[in-house]
Amino acid sequence: MGFIQLNNVTKFFTKTLKPAVDSLDLSINKGEIITLLGPSGCGKTTTLRMIAGFEQPSTGEIAIDEEEVFSDHLSLPPEKRGIGMVFQDYALFPHMSIVKNVMFGLNKWSTREKKKRAKEVLELVGLEEYATRYPTELSGGQQQRVALARALAPKPHVVLMDEPFSNLDAGLREKMRFDVTNILRKANTTAIIVTHDQKDAFAVSDRVVVMNEGVIQQIAAPKEMYRCPKNCFVAQFVGKTNLLDGTMDNDQRSIHTHIGKVDLPEQWKERLENVKLSIRPEGCRLAKEGQYCGKVERVTYGGEYQELYVRLHSDHMLSKEPMVIYAPIEQDVEIGSIVSFDITPELVALVE
Ligand code: ATP
Repeated sequence: MGFIQLNNVTKFFTKTLKPAVDSLDLSINKGEIITLLGPSGCGKTTTLRMIAGFEQPSTGEIAIDEEEVFSDHLSLPPEKRGIGMVFQDYALFPHMSIVKNVMFGLNKWSTREKKKRAKEVLELVGLEEYATRYPTELSGGQQQRVALARALAPKPHVVLMDEPFSNLDAGLREKMRFDVTNILRKANTTAIIVTHDQKDAFAVSDRVVVMNEGVIQQIAAPKEMYRCPKNCFVAQFVGKTNLLDGTMDNDQRSIHTHIGKVDLPEQWKERLENVKLSIRPEGCRLAKEGQYCGKVERVTYGGEYQELYVRLHSDHMLSKEPMVIYAPIEQDVEIGSIVSFDITPELVALVE
């Protein structure tokens, strides 16, 4: 059993429609930072709200700190679950100073202890000098750190954050990803973060839970998720990819596809007949006499790289879809030119 455990949790909002969350099993370790990642409506907020106790599952069990908080005969209210919540809009009280905001959740503590703890968490988030200010006198990033300090103050078992970065502009967002992770690590807190942004998820979490239509698609560390997506949905949701159909070679080390033979990162354990391959665009490296070649149909500048849409020649036939491949920004590539490239097996994955 994990520090936080969800067993077979299902949520129906209406009996006739599909469940918003369907038979979800999730086990989270103490001190882990987890993100729930998925497109709008996939059920991530509902999952977070069920853990918090703001929403009741239709069926299933939830435990926090190895203690049951929801089952068919029990439902603890949010304030008894030992959770700290950070809302998307921070939900700070505008008429209270920063220190009062932070002390808000400590009403059972003595005044001396409240002040000591507020000072501690404001130091932790680097805002001890702002204690007497009011929320409107702080920047978005600072307000978010106050919200996090307030959530951490009562020493919760777990901090739950709903889209914590979505109100921030691009530059601040990157800084806050770093700051929030640092603060959570220093506080040694378990955290569950909801986001629809792959970059947020990859930057802050130990493990990412990708959801679609109420169902978990894959749970993995960011690098593993990117390199070995389990299915087509994950492969396409976490970054760009090229999906190809193919047949496995007898030696189980490569796949025959319409663009030719593609090597796998390692020998596959069983021989599969019809398979799907995901090839990441950065797994295709331009080379003078590469194994594959094709005509550049479109070039898009991505900033750090350029995205080439290459129509491949294979068996003297033109392939159906152009391949997306990344080329270094310093390389001049003309539309209509012929390029050749190799594929890095480590960025090739078999997907369901
Ligand atoms: P978003 O990123 O847009 O917030 P999400 O992944 O968090 O999406 P949820 O908010 O969990 O998704 O919603 C999952 C599904 O449940 C959606 O189809 C949504 O319309 C439905 N839903 C959520 N809350 C309610 C509600 N209170 N009543 C009825 N249906 C709801």
